[in-house]
Amino acid sequence: MKVIYTDNNATTKVADEVIEEMVPYFGEYYGNPSSMHTFGDQVGKKLIQSRQKVADLIHADPGEIVFTSCGTESDNSAVFSALNANPDKKRIITSNVEHPAILNLFTYLQDKKGYEAVFVPVDKKGRLDLDMLYDSLTDDTAIVSLMWANNETGVMFPIPEIAKKVTEKGILFHTDAVQAAGKVPIDVTAAGVDLLSLSGHKIHAPKGIGVLYVKKGIKFHPYLIGGHQEKGRRGGTENTVSIIGLGKACELAAQHLPLVGTQVKELRDYLQSQLLEKIPGVSVNGEWETRLPNTLSIGFDAVEGESILMMLDREGICASSGSACTSGSLDPSHVLMAMKVPFKSAHGTLRFSLSHYNTKEEMDHIVKTLVPAIETLRAMSPFWKDGKMV
Ligand SMILES: *Cc1c(COP(=O)(O)O)cnc(C)c1O
Repeated sequence: MKVIYTDNNATTKVADEVIEEMVPYFGEYYGNPSSMHTFGDQVGKKLIQSRQKVADLIHADPGEIVFTSCGTESDNSAVFSALNANPDKKRIITSNVEHPAILNLFTYLQDKKGYEAVFVPVDKKGRLDLDMLYDSLTDDTAIVSLMWANNETGVMFPIPEIAKKVTEKGILFHTDAVQAAGKVPIDVTAAGVDLLSLSGHKIHAPKGIGVLYVKKGIKFHPYLIGGHQEKGRRGGTENTVSIIGLGKACELAAQHLPLVGTQVKELRDYLQSQLLEKIPGVSVNGEWETRLPNTLSIGFDAVEGESILMMLDREGICASSGSACTSGSLDPSHVLMAMKVPFKSAHGTLRFSLSHYNTKEEMDHIVKTLVPAIETLRAMSPFWKDGKMV
């Protein structure tokens, strides 16, 4: 059966061009980029090109790019660096809709390490309470970390505006841009951020490669202490193959950016309007205007997201539900709960996240599958009577 992949915020297909670029470096060119001989150095030269391509995607200087093992490591190293650079500061600020890579780290630092973590709330549409954020900035604040775009709803925070206010006070600002990269333009200099995280597998590169942008001039403390790699900012022999793949993926992402803003957005909007038109009791989660162009978080009243997913799965359609499935619980996710999405609609929430590989035919197939699936499930639901939720 043909797979219809609409779960790109979970992970993406490694682009064929990326695989092609990587293959020689698995086999033929296995040298260590730090070696003095030509054989190793030719890999080193290739890494320099890749670093440039990564830097170009976010308008950074190649010297500001640190390769890590994943988005989670980038997030963790950004925060730990800030804490080590500011040993006297005890306040750390984030939002309550972050990815677990930040959310669970902040909870750990609060519960186990004595930090005073502030989790700034969002409103019903997923927008950050900016007044509360700015009021919480103190001289005692070591770092503010806020995601550029939310992985579940696609809602974007106004990062350039926030970064300006935070850094003006001399506080370090980190943004998790894992979901924003490749979907909306990112200019680290214009945005004025100090630290920024990326992850390869969300932008058509392999899993297990990440990036931390570290603004020139800021005090940085390595998370992995070891060799001189990454100018001493991250020890460990470079993941040469994946870095080369990521370079190619960033080059492609820059080329595809206009496509995501137009073609992919049109597909998402088409799917959204078809579902709203053809199925009653449907609501879209998150502020419409400031969402990523590829993401649709949509709640179906009075049904279970997991049940819908199973019915989609039979048709080869890959999507996500809005439950905290990672913890094995059927509670709505922390993001939907933070947005106070009503329980009976949060339970039936699905996330479709598209890429430029998707087609209109695929969207039609999703709609054709979902309409009867929801009808069937509602016929069995105690919460659905006479065409509405009870
Ligand atoms: C996927 C994701 C991460 C984690 O990246 P990994 O490379 O899987 O560790 C962090 N933040 C956001 C917003 C994500 O979507």
